[in-house]
Amino acid sequence: MTTKIKYLILGAGPSGLALATQLLRMKETSFIIVDKDAEAGGLCKSRQMDGSPLDIGGGHLLDVRRKNILDFVFHFLPANEWNRFDRISKIQFDGVELDYPYEAHIWQLPMDDQVAHLLSIMNAGSNRGTPMPKSFSKWISWKLGDLIANHYLLPYNAKIFADISLDELGTYWLYKLPNVSMEDTLRSCLSKKIHGHLPAHAQFYYPKQHGYGEVFKRMGAALGKNLLLNYPVKSLDVETLTVNNEIQAEMVISTLPWQELAADKSFPKQIKTAISRLKYSSIDVTYRPEKAATDSHWTYFPSPELSYHRVLYRQNLLAGAKGYVEETNTLRLPPGEISTHHNQYAYPLNTIHKPEQIQKVLAWATSRSIIGLGRWGEWEHMNSDVALEKGINLAVDLLQK
Ligand SMILES: Cc1cc2nc3c(=O)[nH]c(=O)nc-3n(C[C@H](O)[C@H](O)[C@H](O)COP(=O)(O)OP(=O)(O)OC[C@H]3O[C@@H](n4cnc5c(N)ncnc54)[C@H](O)[C@@H]3O)c2cc1C
Repeated sequence: MTTKIKYLILGAGPSGLALATQLLRMKETSFIIVDKDAEAGGLCKSRQMDGSPLDIGGGHLLDVRRKNILDFVFHFLPANEWNRFDRISKIQFDGVELDYPYEAHIWQLPMDDQVAHLLSIMNAGSNRGTPMPKSFSKWISWKLGDLIANHYLLPYNAKIFADISLDELGTYWLYKLPNVSMEDTLRSCLSKKIHGHLPAHAQFYYPKQHGYGEVFKRMGAALGKNLLLNYPVKSLDVETLTVNNEIQAEMVISTLPWQELAADKSFPKQIKTAISRLKYSSIDVTYRPEKAATDSHWTYFPSPELSYHRVLYRQNLLAGAKGYVEETNTLRLPPGEISTHHNQYAYPLNTIHKPEQIQKVLAWATSRSIIGLGRWGEWEHMNSDVALEKGINLAVDLLQK
């Protein structure tokens, strides 16, 4: 027999959970949220490892800037159960360690290197007013100068997105990168301190006694029987809006990677093709119990010789926790190495043609009362605070219609 409801939410990661809990808060109960896993939380889940929680989707921190989202999150895990941190993160390359962000800490380099970096920034196309290049790698050098590009951003991006060549990436998403100002860099070299803007996550929260996943576990618990776990979505009939031939809805909200749905014969051919052009990368997370001699919360490793690209020092985030966690693109995992956790869908890739492909999919889906939400539904690099905000806003929109 088919269960009939108003809203069917696919995926209980942050975006699906925020939508579901907000619907409930607004007294809407005709919904079901399903997830293939045994626990809610998606990429933000944590599990116990060596006596302390470990974030299995890689290191996860809550940015401090969205007050409405902090209030929402603190409703589930109260403010007094979090520590607030001033970010300490570093970049290591060629035997050098710099504080992050690179451009603000050039003063930590030897004098000759500082001069070379100042000249490189002065000669960057963006500072000389030359036309903006279209290719990703040329764009990075144009924006930041050859030295920052070659030491850090190009090799780092080549590692994290090892699935494709860098020039398959578009430049439309790089607006987030700051202009590197010659004046700020010079001032910071002369005064030996940071000048200019602060990066994202300059301050963040992390739970005092739990992993980040605790928030989402509690959100899941608040949903009671509206949440179905261990429920993999195997088919979505877009004619009848029925999942697995079991649950039929008036509207489906999907936070799943579209590839999880596209095998259904009811998906039109051109939509299947657009979905097959959406690319992603997979990340493995490997726990190491050793103590690392650093005060860093996390460090970026652009060097191609090292398989991992980022290490998160759990010992510096959680009282009593040991060890650190390496994040490695699955394609770069050393042969035979078994990681602690494999995340098949980690980063939606911002390829050159992504905007038109996802637009095509979303426009078609909306016309069938299927809404794409969150990191995968919208195919956007978004942090969990943004995913939460999108879920909350969608609930408000749906109920105000
Ligand atoms: C390495 C890394 C580090 C990050 N660091 C941060 C950080 O520090 N701070 C931050 O705020 N954000 C961070 N993020 C981003 C954060 O993980 C995402 O913003 C967030 O998880 C997006 O939520 P979502 O619900 O849209 O997607 P997801 O969390 O991916 O949830 C999707 C859900 O769909 C389910 N699903 C998939 N297929 C099926 C199926 N066939 N049937 C049923 N269910 C299915 C999955 O099990 C999952 O629960 C990081 C991400 C990565 C990869």
